[in-house]
Amino acid sequence: MTTEPAGLVVIGASLAGLRGAEALRQGGYDGPLTLVGAEAHRPYDRPPLSKHVLAGELRPDATRLPERTRLSARWHLGNAVVSLDRSARRLSLADGTALAYRKLLIATGAEARPWPAETGGGLAGIHTLRGRDDAASLRADLLAGPRRVLIVGGGLIGCEAASCLRDLGLPVTLVDSNSAPLARALGTWVGGVIAACLRESGAVFRPGTQVLRFEGDAAGRVARARLADGSIVEADLVIAALGATRATGWLRGAGLMADPGGLTCDAACRVLDMDGAPCPDIYAAGDVARWPSRLYGDRLVSVEHWGNAVEQAAHAARNMLAGPDDQRSYVHLPAYWSSQFGINIKAVGLTEGADAVAVVQGTRASRRFLAVYGRGGRSIAAVSFDQARWLPAYAEAIAAGAGFPPILDATDQPRIESAAPGFPSPRVAARSTEAVHG
Ligand SMILES: Cc1cc2nc3c(=O)[nH]c(=O)nc-3n(C[C@H](O)[C@H](O)[C@H](O)COP(=O)(O)OP(=O)(O)OC[C@H]3O[C@@H](n4cnc5c(N)ncnc54)[C@H](O)[C@@H]3O)c2cc1C
Repeated sequence: MTTEPAGLVVIGASLAGLRGAEALRQGGYDGPLTLVGAEAHRPYDRPPLSKHVLAGELRPDATRLPERTRLSARWHLGNAVVSLDRSARRLSLADGTALAYRKLLIATGAEARPWPAETGGGLAGIHTLRGRDDAASLRADLLAGPRRVLIVGGGLIGCEAASCLRDLGLPVTLVDSNSAPLARALGTWVGGVIAACLRESGAVFRPGTQVLRFEGDAAGRVARARLADGSIVEADLVIAALGATRATGWLRGAGLMADPGGLTCDAACRVLDMDGAPCPDIYAAGDVARWPSRLYGDRLVSVEHWGNAVEQAAHAARNMLAGPDDQRSYVHLPAYWSSQFGINIKAVGLTEGADAVAVVQGTRASRRFLAVYGRGGRSIAAVSFDQARWLPAYAEAIAAGAGFPPILDATDQPRIESAAPGFPSPRVAARSTEAVHG
């Protein structure tokens, strides 16, 4: 056991961990503060990894997050927490260090789902893209000039990667089990716009099928993929954009409600034990957290968005410093952005369960539009393609539970174009390849 006095410990030294630690200091906490991170790097930013870093515009090590306050803290980097003993209030680290804590903020995020070893996952040239080291290794392989890159999964990361690689002039094939990219996030009706962009960019888009396995050459490098439709795609570099699972494996045996889908919290960001009772001294924030969303009927939600990591970390830190009678609920409308094929995409709300979508500004044909999603007569989400000016107004309307279709002064359509959004059935979605940013 270290001789440090037990203080506040933040597990996960990335976006939510850093912003949470800063909020603890800004909130007046001046006792011992420790950050523990599995990666050897100081906190860095992930969104550029699938954009500017892949494009070669930014070095992987130039993504370090700005540290807003001079954080007086002890750092354990490159040293994962491997277990939590709640009764002894003790953490065990990979190098054998035992760390006592008074309160915890868990911000361990998510991990890229790897391609399974049984179907070729161990071959050289198969990459995932979650961290800075992944981006550096992928970038090195790209510089070697692959003959063809195969991207498995048409979620945001798969599409961003396809866009960058086409800009670099590399031959790209993208395989997705749905009929359009971004189907899980935005539905096939909106995703069809990105399908057209993909094809126009010169990428080969293979919808409605799956990669069954990869085969390698004599040197153990990936050479081809066998698809469920019987076809073969020759490829010497693969990006498996298969989504992410929450980094909760280290909590096995800790008696908390945790699984690969997330670490369940109450509305105040306190982690729940197996009986569903909030642990007064353990909080979670960021990609790892799953919490009841007041804006969505207290449904448990977990998101993989930058903005949530920042806001939830600050909120959890605030509650960590407050007394038991002053625990405030986290109320947050999820939001994210993406850039691909020269289009800035911004989205607010959760599209899950949407039964209609309406273009309220612009047109899909022009690829400049704002679309709102509805469920049971309520507006639940909105997305803009290069048309974000009125998005905040729709975000407010969504948070306020506005009806669908939404009638706002911001509507510039004589007649609102409305359609079925085309979300994949849950079975296809489960097999399909990517969660929103995973
Ligand atoms: C390539 C990519 C592009 C993205 N683009 C966008 C975008 O355009 N827009 C957007 O809104 N969002 C985007 N995101 C999502 C956004 O980056 C995440 O929501 C954000 O990083 C979440 O922060 P976090 O701190 O909760 O988790 P993470 O950033 O995943 O950090 C968790 C940290 O905890 C560490 N850790 C895990 N287990 C342990 C352990 N047992 N002990 C110690 N440390 C541990 C991990 O190593 C990691 O460093 C993108 C994500 C990726 C990967």
